[in-house]
Amino acid sequence: MTIKSVTQLIGNTPLLDLQIDVPQGSHIYAKLEMFNPGGSVKDRLGQYLLQDAKVRGKINEQTTIIEPTAGNTGIGVALAAQQLGLLTTLVIPEKFSFEKQVLMQALGAKLVHTPSEAGIKGAIQKARELEQEISNSYVPMQFENPANPAAYYHTLGPELVQELDRPITAFVAGAGSGGTFAGVAKYLIDHDPATKTIVVEPEGSILNGGSAHAHRTEGIGVEFIPPFFQDVRIDQTLTISDQAAFAQVKAAARKLGLFIGSSSGAALAASLQAAQELPANSTIVTIFPDSSERYLSEKIYD
Ligand code: PMP
Repeated sequence: MTIKSVTQLIGNTPLLDLQIDVPQGSHIYAKLEMFNPGGSVKDRLGQYLLQDAKVRGKINEQTTIIEPTAGNTGIGVALAAQQLGLLTTLVIPEKFSFEKQVLMQALGAKLVHTPSEAGIKGAIQKARELEQEISNSYVPMQFENPANPAAYYHTLGPELVQELDRPITAFVAGAGSGGTFAGVAKYLIDHDPATKTIVVEPEGSILNGGSAHAHRTEGIGVEFIPPFFQDVRIDQTLTISDQAAFAQVKAAARKLGLFIGSSSGAALAASLQAAQELPANSTIVTIFPDSSERYLSEKIYD
């Protein structure tokens, strides 16, 4: 295969039939999003957000892109911006992984840190301040931009339906901005209203009524209800402990030869729980957003 740009490698990731610890007749399929060129599901978003901004006339050749991010969106946005010859400033709470920050800088992005205690809300506020300070800047703002769920509604959702030759019993995915879950869940429900939608959060996220606090599982967990959740039916919320998520990170390496990040570990733990609760012969689909290789400095396998 010859390609002219790495962005041609975004999407159409493999769908793995897990074949472990699943009740007889049921299957868990995981979309391996670490195979995107920037290493995560967020490459789809970076590309879609900037294409959307271009079509809507929000950016030109001199625009600086500013975005608050937990890391993977930053890499996706920096990759897309670089391909368009645009500068990027990413606002990131200090706590997020060293590897992701190095990769963002390697792509040419400038990083601005906000205190970990201020959470993602602190990064959002800082991004808005920078927008005022930097002339000809544009903030895609993944946390409220309808192009976020739309990116997944138009790419990941259709891929899942095309790749599976059977109805999807349940869709299981974590939520950070909520874009992946909302976009894919909406597409799958539009395609087959019988599909059950299950959102995954770590302990320390507020969807199941808990209070916000720190957690080790990185990339998922919310401090406020994502606005995208107003437009989609959510049948169940599963709260997964850091311990359960990290146990599945290790199991995936040992049993599947697969390097998955902690949000994928949480998605796997939730999918296994769903498989036990759903009827026999269920087809469960989940998303593995990124690889453990970008969390090695955080001792993900200890
Ligand atoms: N997993 C990882 C590793 C992520 O970086 C993100 C994005 N923060 C997610 C899951 C959640 O994706 P979304 O923002 O679409 O909810």
